Amino acid sequence: MSPLSEVDRVAIVAKCFNEFIIGLKLEFVERVGRAINVAFETAQNWHRALVAYHNSRQGTPLETVSSSPSYRHSNLYALDPHRYMRCVHMKLALIGVGQAGGKVLDEFLAYDARTGADIVRGAIAVNTAKADLQGIDRLPKDRRILIGQSRVKGHGVGADNELGAEVTEEDIDEIQGALDSVPVHEIDAFLIVAGLGGGTGSGGAPVIANNLKRIYTEPVYGLGILPGGDEGGIYTLNAARSLKTFVDEVDNLMLFDNDAWRSSGESVEEGFDAINEELVQRFGVLFSAGEIAEGSDVAESVVDSSEIINTLKGGGISSLGYADVGVDEPERDGLLSRLRGETDVGIDSTEATNRITSLVRKATLGRLTLPCEVQGTERALLVVAGPSAYLNRKGIEHGRKWLEEQTGSMEVRGGDYPRRGEGTVAALVLLGGVTNVPRVKELQQVAIEAQQNLGEITDESEDRFAELMDSDGELESLF
Ligand code: GDP
Repeated sequence: MSPLSEVDRVAIVAKCFNEFIIGLKLEFVERVGRAINVAFETAQNWHRALVAYHNSRQGTPLETVSSSPSYRHSNLYALDPHRYMRCVHMKLALIGVGQAGGKVLDEFLAYDARTGADIVRGAIAVNTAKADLQGIDRLPKDRRILIGQSRVKGHGVGADNELGAEVTEEDIDEIQGALDSVPVHEIDAFLIVAGLGGGTGSGGAPVIANNLKRIYTEPVYGLGILPGGDEGGIYTLNAARSLKTFVDEVDNLMLFDNDAWRSSGESVEEGFDAINEELVQRFGVLFSAGEIAEGSDVAESVVDSSEIINTLKGGGISSLGYADVGVDEPERDGLLSRLRGETDVGIDSTEATNRITSLVRKATLGRLTLPCEVQGTERALLVVAGPSAYLNRKGIEHGRKWLEEQTGSMEVRGGDYPRRGEGTVAALVLLGGVTNVPRVKELQQVAIEAQQNLGEITDESEDRFAELMDSDGELESLF
């Protein structure tokens, strides 16, 4: 491992301090934190000036220098804040369990390919149904693990999640063997994705989480999909039982409710592709926050994987809000023009502030991945993504403060994620540890009723069958 550069050290101290501020929440400490941030920025500016000096000596433009091999081996490269920040986004090992898990995993891979986000560092799909595994387009064959073959012959477990849990447990070594190919030293966390209403994902996901927690020190997160209300009692019962189990096995369970995302007049099945895109758009922006592509801008107060991990720590259930608005991408201006003091023209800063605060409200009060009451949320994270000229610090700070008031939480983190080419400014709000979730209560209620009904129906049909076959002792069995 290479020694830490000056900028790395200053960045680490500044980050630790910010965490400290969040913990203590004292005005005085906040001011000292800001002073350290200013010091960090000064270090960055100092570095930029150094690079400019280097360029003027070499007569080579900055962008060319930053990618040249000689620059990469120079001390200047070690000090480059771009280099430090290029890889601070979340890197995940993704495990898709069951049909929904596999399809969402596929969508994450498509998101990575489309945006170059590089979130997924390792991926496997696990299923009991051969046909579902074959439907996954972007995953090599040896990453698609068919389990339970001796029991269900590749035909799936139906909606029997107890059987799903059993066969996952039986074939856990095979799953673990596939995971050995994942470069665990490169990842920040595991993410297990599954639909909770079915059989394989519903039963298997908690079993896999339990196994990963025993083996690795990296956090293990769940992304659970709740069934639509019209899918019937058995799906609701499965989801309620899986949710209860899964949440205890992971470091945090992020939820997505199909019921809230169905378009009117459309059955849940018909809308799955569109729903999966919406789902991955949200989680994709969250996990890629902090990703700085070659030549793009450095965030003023960059969000990185540690902020996401800290917002998710403490366990429980999380929900995600998102809102975006189209903007004109400003002309690409090189770092040299910025060094000369030229700023982006034509972007009104009051308008930029208002745009961000209104987006934060829309993201929080609009449709969440899991509809819930915001008040009482334990921790939150605000990410504002878009072209850097639109990401104004005042707007983000206002948005963060507003979120503090809405949630009543003392732990609200915030920052920006400069990215080009999307043509939007977006606000993403991660609500970590939500406690007031009427949908979960309703799910439990319906599940309890379904469980009782199922019990009664089984008893009644046993009685009715016995009555049907009763011949008053007139008939004898063959043997
Ligand atoms: P499994 O293969 O036995 O785990 O079951 P499925 O994944 O087919 O279904 C479990 C639940 O996931 C269902 O209740 C559906 O609500 C949901 N589901 C299935 N496919 C998709 C999908 O592509 N997207 C989303 N969002 N949900 C899905």
